[in-house]
Amino acid sequence: MSLFQRILIANRGEIARRVIRSCRKLGIAPVAVYAAPDRDAPHVREADEAVPLAGSDPRQAYLDGAALIAAAKAAGAEAIHPGYGFLSESPAFAQACAQAGIVFIGPSPEAMRAMAEKDAAKRLMAEAGVPVVPGYHGEKQDEEALLREARRIGFPVLIKAVAGGGGKGMRLVEREEAFAEALAAARREAASAFGNDRVLVEKYVACPRHVEVQVFGDMHGRVVALYERDCSIQRRHQKIVEEAPAPGLPAGLRERMMEAAVAGAAAIGYTNAGTMEFIVDARAPLGPDTPFYFMEMNTRLQVEHPVTEMVTDLDLVAWQIRVAAGEPLPADWPPPLRGHAIEARLYAEDPARGFLPQTGRVVHLRLPDGRPGIRCDVGIAEGDVVSSHFDPMIGKVIAHGANREEARRRVIAALDALEIAGVATNRGFLRRLLWHPAFAEGRLSTHFVAERQEQLLADDTEPAPEHWALAAAAAQHLRLRRRRATASPQDPFSPFGLCDGFRLNLPAEEEMTFSAAGGVDRTLWLVHCGERALAIRDGARQWRVACEGEDADGRLLLRLDGRLIHLRAVACDHELHLFVQGRHLVFHRHSARWEDEEEAEGPGDVKAPMPGRVLALKVKEGQAVARDEVLLVLEAMKMEHPLRAPRAGVVERLSVKEGDQVEEGALLLTLAEPDDAG
Ligand code: ADP
Repeated sequence: MSLFQRILIANRGEIARRVIRSCRKLGIAPVAVYAAPDRDAPHVREADEAVPLAGSDPRQAYLDGAALIAAAKAAGAEAIHPGYGFLSESPAFAQACAQAGIVFIGPSPEAMRAMAEKDAAKRLMAEAGVPVVPGYHGEKQDEEALLREARRIGFPVLIKAVAGGGGKGMRLVEREEAFAEALAAARREAASAFGNDRVLVEKYVACPRHVEVQVFGDMHGRVVALYERDCSIQRRHQKIVEEAPAPGLPAGLRERMMEAAVAGAAAIGYTNAGTMEFIVDARAPLGPDTPFYFMEMNTRLQVEHPVTEMVTDLDLVAWQIRVAAGEPLPADWPPPLRGHAIEARLYAEDPARGFLPQTGRVVHLRLPDGRPGIRCDVGIAEGDVVSSHFDPMIGKVIAHGANREEARRRVIAALDALEIAGVATNRGFLRRLLWHPAFAEGRLSTHFVAERQEQLLADDTEPAPEHWALAAAAAQHLRLRRRRATASPQDPFSPFGLCDGFRLNLPAEEEMTFSAAGGVDRTLWLVHCGERALAIRDGARQWRVACEGEDADGRLLLRLDGRLIHLRAVACDHELHLFVQGRHLVFHRHSARWEDEEEAEGPGDVKAPMPGRVLALKVKEGQAVARDEVLLVLEAMKMEHPLRAPRAGVVERLSVKEGDQVEEGALLLTLAEPDDAG
């Protein structure tokens, strides 16, 4: 069986990078595509070749099937991997690929069509002997007939758009009187989201767990189930934490669910990877005979596939590619289950404001990958913009352990070590969720988040008193480091390279006022005791903080009254971000000294660190400079101080000429980003 030489990946973000990894493993050349805002995205940089997609709407660009097929042809790709979302469940696209002689890495258009609408899918599954939620999945759509069916089923019922997805077009109806209004609302939402306002009515399972089974079919008629995933932890009907295997699922129930999943998939001649989603009635503790019902089938790879990969030790994307090329599934599938895996989805969103999507430039990003049992599938890199064009999921942190508790501990520790600044995320929310005793005990249901909203939203962004002292010390250290970098590297002992609060005729003490989340203001007094040590007072307390360099990971080592604390400090705009003890604390600057510092870091302004005379200009306007390249030489107190570029860039404007006398803080020149200059 010969595999493809090139595959075009019709997607972006973490899933595009994920597919690239499997291509590499198989020795296949990956071809990326990108809409304009993704020009510098990691998936573009990592592929062998990247084809731009035209169009003014970046989201639409990834949905242009004809353009994607043309791109595949132009790049010589024999197959297209659609990822998830976008065109992954479009039978029309799969068909167009086939017509163009390109292999669509996924199921057949017929199998996709059979599962595309929830009512037809449920009828088909019932025929195949798969249990479905008691309900009405028929053709009648008038209000009276649907209400009659709802009465027959018994309230509470769920109205669902047949074309639904992502929880849209779904309404819970508790009482008969509320039926008409809920139906109208579900229809409106479905019509606008899917262009199809047909609905079905089904029994509402009061205490449901969402358990889904991974299936895989080859082109030789074999379908295998690769165990289950529990995806009960949802917000707004969307999954945020998934795990494999499902906690507390008895072996007998697992067997029944896997059998039903295989029967259902086999009934539609399913090939490639797919997921049968079931709802388990979890009112009583699970037993081998607990009822479960088919909800829908996702005819693609799922976001949460990594947890299955970890407990089966398989590369599902590689198998998607192999199966699409005609390879049969191994005879010994399913492999034995090994350990437990938990995935947490990192979203750019504000949990406290109804999980509202957030946007922004990621000014700092450190991923916890490389730790034992940890995998990070993330679609962005430091410096990238999270925009409102696309889904706000940034990526996933997945942990494997010998058992559930080990996986849980590891995923929490990994989230603690994850550092992201510049865009608000649900990191803290996920952490509190995974710590929650009910989660630790495996007491899951799809209502988990809603029922504990208050505890999970509990704000822990308020700093403790000692965090203020650490922030002041870290800010001081950043300032020192910056002065060192721009001042006189030849003379490390120059008094101008230091910034120890030294003033003639004044004590070496300074005041620093800043605020933290919630707007609390605090003033600290810093007394410099030698070059690296500070005594810090906040009125009531006093700390002694000394900087002892950096750890292997580049974090500051601050000794706070004897304790050695590892801490990352990132300054950006008006903010100082501290990542310490698993927490992300944000401080805002106030005092003059801080603002000085902020301007020095501003959009490329290079200022005089001391009063002096411009002895020599070493650059011209328009000249590209490397980081640390000498820009000009300043003469102060009869000594020469070369000033170096704080970063790479292009000299946009010179504000001084040779011989000029300048004050401390005077603007000398402006550096533009290398890109800005075009
Ligand atoms: P969508 O395709 O919009 O995601 P699903 O049919 O997959 O809709 O259901 C989404 C979620 O809604 C499920 O994971 C579950 O939490 C809940 N749900 C669906 N059907 C039922 C039901 N009959 N009873 C209770 N909850 C349900």
